[in-house]
Amino acid sequence: MTEIQTILASDETKKREYDNAADRIWGYAETRFEEVRSAGLLSEILEREGFAVQNGAAGMDTALVASFGQGAPVIGLLGEYDALTNLNQTAGVAEKSAPEPGTNGHGCGHNLLGVASLEAAVALKDYLASTGTSGTVRYYGCPAEEGGGGKCFMAREHLFDDLDAAITWHPGDLNQVVAASTLANIEVYFSFTGSSAHAAASPHLGRSALDAVELMNVAVNFLREHVPQEVRMHYAVTNPGGLSPNVVQAKAEVLYLLRAPTAPQVRELFERVCNIAKGASLMTETTLEITPNGGTANVVPNDTLGRVMQQVMEELGGPKFDEEEKNFARQIEETLTPEQRAASMRRFSPEITPKAQGKAVSEWVMPYVFTNASLPFSTDVGDASWNVPTVQLMAATQALGTPGHSWQVVSQSCSAVGHTGMHYAAQVMALTGLRLLQEPELCEKAKEELKERLHGMAYDCLLPEGLEPSAIH
Ligand SMILES: [Zn+2]
Repeated sequence: MTEIQTILASDETKKREYDNAADRIWGYAETRFEEVRSAGLLSEILEREGFAVQNGAAGMDTALVASFGQGAPVIGLLGEYDALTNLNQTAGVAEKSAPEPGTNGHGCGHNLLGVASLEAAVALKDYLASTGTSGTVRYYGCPAEEGGGGKCFMAREHLFDDLDAAITWHPGDLNQVVAASTLANIEVYFSFTGSSAHAAASPHLGRSALDAVELMNVAVNFLREHVPQEVRMHYAVTNPGGLSPNVVQAKAEVLYLLRAPTAPQVRELFERVCNIAKGASLMTETTLEITPNGGTANVVPNDTLGRVMQQVMEELGGPKFDEEEKNFARQIEETLTPEQRAASMRRFSPEITPKAQGKAVSEWVMPYVFTNASLPFSTDVGDASWNVPTVQLMAATQALGTPGHSWQVVSQSCSAVGHTGMHYAAQVMALTGLRLLQEPELCEKAKEELKERLHGMAYDCLLPEGLEPSAIH
């Protein structure tokens, strides 16, 4: 058997164990920083496989780093396992049905994410153990990707610094190397304090904190005209001050999520929005408290590693779904609106369209496209990517066109379709890691590339100074 075949040799018992682990984590549906049972389960498997496991990494109870092997290159596999609130859904059915409405669910498929990265780490461990090759494989159990940014805390503690390459993936509806950037973000609370008064009898004695929030939001809406195109500024009024219109509201708070293409740009944006808040405070004679609540860096894509992964995917081909899985995907596809289906098809170039037509689930590999442009979302993978060359793929675990963070994702993330896509992602990551272990000079080239892309900029953690994971709210 060749080394590649050894890595791909699917031990059916082990595969069922991984399916079972993914389904159990799906059932736990634990949200950010509360993934106690999910992290515990992964930690248990890694220990049984002979990894040295460090639980509670970077001051987070539900983070872990597991290591096997010796010497260079050091290859990291990044896993996530947090769920989303209010997305409970019955598994493996093609209709919206929540047995316990209002409870959590795996609406981003992170139950599959955490397990596939582990599956790849174990395959590489088996290779290192059986061949005695020099190299280390490390699994990072990263909590709180959905707000909270576990990897930001890990990066702040320099946990990625000695890696030669990091590999990860995300569940989705296509099979492709994601060689693009994402938006950096900063989340921040603006809290205003004025003084209450009878709104009719003595309004002149009141100073309205709610007015300050409203004026701030209006000014930010004007700011939209004068920021880079890709910037996103969203807000939620987290405290309107009260429910009585006959009271001048003395306390009010608004939470902002600011996004821009790069970490330095989002810092600049943050300063501008802070100035607006100060202006609102001055206008309303209220006091202002600014409390940053976290931030993630943009992803720095790596073309060297991206090309390695693309080659692996093209040699391997896409995932293979059986008839039953295809039927289930078809039923899910039927729950999409005509607009959702049309938007899904519009993503494809004329060469890809014929492959997608009439298909409910993707079995093909998308062409490789490298871009420095930002995809319109953020991920804490960005914080790893500033410190170590990082590569990621999307693998099809869902019917074509499935919208993100939806009941359809929850349902499919605990189904045979999800399992098949998960094993495919694990194979791609393991074979990419194998290539890097066998040709460590690729890691050196990838590191050179990262250095060039950063133009001498050092990693600038966007987490507020001294912020502990337990303080995130
Ligand atoms: Zn996700």
